[in-house]
Order: sequence, then C-alpha cells, then structure tokens
Amino acid sequence: MANTPPDFDAVVVGAGFSGMYMLKTLRDKLGLKARVFEAGSNVGGTWYWNRYPGARCDSDSYIYCFTFDRQLLQEWEWSERYPEQPEILRYLEHVAARHDLKRDIQFGTKVTGASFDDTTQLWTVKTDKGDAVTARYVVAAVGTLSATNVPKFEGLESFRGKSYHTSQWPHEGVDFTGKRVGVIGTGATAVQAIPEIAQQAKQLTVFQRTANYCVPARNGKVDPEKVKARKADYDAIVQRIRSSFFGQEHYFIPKSALEATPEEREHEFDRMWDAGGFAFWLGNYQDMFFSAESNRLCADYIERKIRKSVKDPQVAEKLIPKGYAYGTKRQPLDTNYYETFNRDNVRLVDAEADGPIERITPTGVRAGGTDYAFDILVLATGFDAMTGPLKALNIAGRGGAKLEDAWKDGPRTYLGVAVAGFPNLFTITGPQSPSVLTNMPVSIEQHVDWISDCIAHLEANGKRTIEATTEAQDKWVAHVNEIVNMTLMPGANSWYMSANIPGKPKAFLPYLDPEGAGGYRKRCDEVAAKGYEGFALR
Ligand SMILES: Cc1cc2nc3c(=O)[nH]c(=O)nc-3n(C[C@H](O)[C@H](O)[C@H](O)COP(=O)(O)OP(=O)(O)OC[C@H]3O[C@@H](n4cnc5c(N)ncnc54)[C@H](O)[C@@H]3O)c2cc1C
Repeated sequence: MANTPPDFDAVVVGAGFSGMYMLKTLRDKLGLKARVFEAGSNVGGTWYWNRYPGARCDSDSYIYCFTFDRQLLQEWEWSERYPEQPEILRYLEHVAARHDLKRDIQFGTKVTGASFDDTTQLWTVKTDKGDAVTARYVVAAVGTLSATNVPKFEGLESFRGKSYHTSQWPHEGVDFTGKRVGVIGTGATAVQAIPEIAQQAKQLTVFQRTANYCVPARNGKVDPEKVKARKADYDAIVQRIRSSFFGQEHYFIPKSALEATPEEREHEFDRMWDAGGFAFWLGNYQDMFFSAESNRLCADYIERKIRKSVKDPQVAEKLIPKGYAYGTKRQPLDTNYYETFNRDNVRLVDAEADGPIERITPTGVRAGGTDYAFDILVLATGFDAMTGPLKALNIAGRGGAKLEDAWKDGPRTYLGVAVAGFPNLFTITGPQSPSVLTNMPVSIEQHVDWISDCIAHLEANGKRTIEATTEAQDKWVAHVNEIVNMTLMPGANSWYMSANIPGKPKAFLPYLDPEGAGGYRKRCDEVAAKGYEGFALR
C-alpha cells in the first residue's frame, strides 16, 4: 500500500501567476510530473476573471511580471505604466505559450476536495469533472483575491435588471449606454471602474459603505528612455525588489513625519503625490503605519486634495474617510475618480450620511428609506480574501482533519506556506505571508522557489513528507499578531483584517515582517538552511 505510485508527483490548483510558475519549476527544473487544475478556461487567474471597465494593475508594469525569464524582461514591451487587463492577460498567455505550459493544465476544472491518506501518504484530489487523482504534493495556487464576495443583500435574486460582480465579468463586455447603473462598493476595483462607467451610463449611483483614501495613479506611456534604462538595469532592479519592503521600488523616508518641518513635509507629500502610484502609500514617512499623529498629517494632506477635486462640499465630505488611519486599507489608485463626482449624471449614496442599503428590490436598491431604480447593478464588493479560496478546496489532512475546522477562528499557518496537520501541502502567498501587502509577482516567485527547493530537498534526502510542527505554527501565529498589533492596521474594517464580510473570524490575514518582504525572504531561507527548522521531515 505504502508504495502505490501516485498519478502525479504534484497537483497544482490554479493557473494564474502562481500556478504557471509553479508548474514551470516542478516540471522543467525538478523534472517532476505535475498536473494543474484551473476552474477558468484559460491561464491568467485574476486577469482572466476581472474584466470590468478600467481593470488594470496598480503595480508598475516593469515589475508586475515574472522575473524568472530574464530574456522576456528584455523582449516584452508594456504599453503603459499600468496596463489594462487584456494586455496583462495577453502577457500571461504569451508566457504559457513560450514555456509550453498548457499541455499540463486541465482547464474548466474546479478542485472540489483534497484529502491526505495517512497510509499511502498521498493526496487524493477530486474535481467537479469527476477526476480523482493521487499526488505526493499539493500546491494551492488558488490566489488571494479569487473567491468572489457577494454580500447577502435581501432581495438580490428579485432584481429584474442585469447584475454583475466585477470579478465574474462577461467576456463580451457590458454596454452601459443610456442605462441607469448602480455600483455597490468603493474599494480599489470600484475606484477603477466608476470613472469608466460614468462616461457611458445615463445615470450612475454609487453606494459607499466606507470612503477610501485614493491617491493619483498617473498612468500613461512610460518615457522610452526610462524603459531603456530599466531594461539595462533589470538585474539590479530584481535584486532591489526582492530585498525591498513591499516588492516595489518604494522606500520609506527614514524619519518620523513629526520630525519634518511643515514646509519639508509638504514638499515631500507633493513629491510623492506627483510621482503617483503607490509612492504616497509605501514610500511615506517611516512611522506612518505606527504613529496616529504622523498618519493624521498624511490623511490631512489627502483630505485637502479631495476637497479641491470635488466641487460640492457635501459630496466631498462624504468622500473623506472617517474613523480609520490612512494606508490601513488597500490603496486604490485614482484616475479621475474624485472628479467623476462632479458630473451631473453621478450621485453618491453614503451609508452613514444617507442610510445603508436595506435591500435589493425588483427595480433597484432601497437605501436609507429611498428607492433607487436601475437597469444594471454592478457589485464591486470584493473577495473573501486569502482564506476563502483555500477553505473552498475542502481540504482534509492527517486523520481527516478539515482545514476549515483548523481555521475556524482565523488562519493558522507556519510562514504562510504550510499548515500543521497537512503534510506536503503548500500555499503560495498564503495567509500570514507578506502576500497582498507586496507587489505580488515578487512574493509569488519567492514562494515558488522556496517550495521547489523544499521539494528538491525532500527528494534528494529520501523523505516522503514535510509538515509544519504545531509548536512552530503557534509561534508564527503569535508573531504575526504581535507585529500587526504594533501598527495602526487593526483599527480599520479592512479585508486585510477580515472585516469586509460579516461573520468572518476577525484576523489579520497577511504578514507584516518588521523588515518587510525582504526580511521575510531571509527568514524563509534561514528556515531552509537550518534543515527546515519548525518542520518535521519523515
Ligand atoms: C482587480 C485586481 C487587481 C490587482 N492588481 C494588482 C496589482 O496591481 N499588483 C499586485 O501585486 N497584485 C494585484 N492584484 C492581486 C493579484 O491577484 C495578484 O497580483 C496575482 O494575479 C495573483 O496570482 P495568483 O496566481 O496567485 O492568483 P490568481 O490570479 O487569483 O489565480 C488563481 C487561480 O486559481 C483558480 N482557482 C481557485 N480555486 C480553484 C479551484 N478550487 N479549482 C480550480 N481552480 C481554482 C482561479 O480560477 C484562478 O484562476 C490584483 C487583484 C485584483 C483582483
């Protein structure tokens, strides 16, 4: 029994950035037999599903890509600073073709269960297409923002118009011309979509639960000289982003905002504001995430900008965030977002000032006692982030223990890449790793490299399983929470804090290493160098 050969060495779930690179590594570097299952009908993950108007990355394109293929870094030309979804999807399709990945990916297939057999020490992975395959390793490359969150609005089914969630957008697109449109949500996705929809729709109503601090994207063509210089410097860029705090070329100003004179501060704020993108968020004064007083100075600056952009002072007031610190929610990048509220065909319904959504009606939305009529409803209501896609895999580990039960009070992992009681299961950018706090391709490549080195180590040393110890996991969970509790992050009702979904156990989902993602990388490498400290290898 114990020697039953498995169908595959490894099963990978998901074919976005993570699953694609994991397959490449397992197959072409380690020479293993791997199978990828992907629910969508193509590669791309996030960029396959999220086709809403205005969908684009917020990371700079020159680093929002794979770095393992240095030749491709030289050859690929991004059209803009933040390319749109179709272009990123084209890039990922190109990578799949270039590395001949599709022959090992089974598309249109959702993994519905994975269970570990203590006797054979193999995983059995089941799919909605009736597959039941065995494998020694399972790698969850299911994404962090891939489990769609549709809030349980009363009456949603009764709506007679069309409704779309932004992450399940029809491939043929949606024509808003002449339509009355309601958008629910004002997170990073909505901030991209609202200005685009407003240009087409007859009337657009935006339902806001929580106002967001938005900073300018400043998208556009990148100066060809800059592109050339970056291409010449790619080796160093890769080094820098790998050792950086957030997987980006943004660095904190190494002092407190309170130490700067008002003039100096204003000058720095202007500089970051003008640079656009994540500069203001990730390259601000170093105590911005820790000191409420410093944070307020940043928030004040953004509030002044909002008041300047939005003509109606009452609307501006509603758009100004209240009750949480700047930067503690995912930073939306703004291209005409605030200005869109100056249009005659756009109105804002704020849960606090105007009353929350009470229900969806056959003709639209009832909020604060008022009925709003729509032809189209857009749900920009985000995701069951990080834990959602993993729990949906129905994973049973040693002794049939369910991951869902192990995580009933929030995720418990070791390094965000493994879970005690679930041998040979790896989670790429899993909960309690830097993941969504970083430029994701950098964290994805780091995890894939670490996982493949780990598997190579097991193979070379005749070990059948690796499993995080409960002790190491408990320490890691305590450490993750200890660090985040030193910051202002827990004060926000963010999806980072699991607070976007009623009833979701309150937990900080990613991990903020005191030395950033670069520091986390060092920790992971040290664990490996010490013979996989905190893991049991058998
Ligand atoms: C709108 C949007 C914009 C973003 N912009 C940025 C950005 O600017 N910068 C950044 O760093 N990150 C960004 N992200 C995060 C983004 O998810 C990552 O950058 C990256 O694409 C993640 O790749 P992945 O392969 O890990 O996951 P995904 O791309 O989410 O791919 C996971 C895949 O797994 C599949 N899957 C899940 N469960 C199953 C199952 N049970 N069976 C079969 N298949 C399954 C899904 O169908 C999906 O295709 C953005 C996310 C969104 C939603």
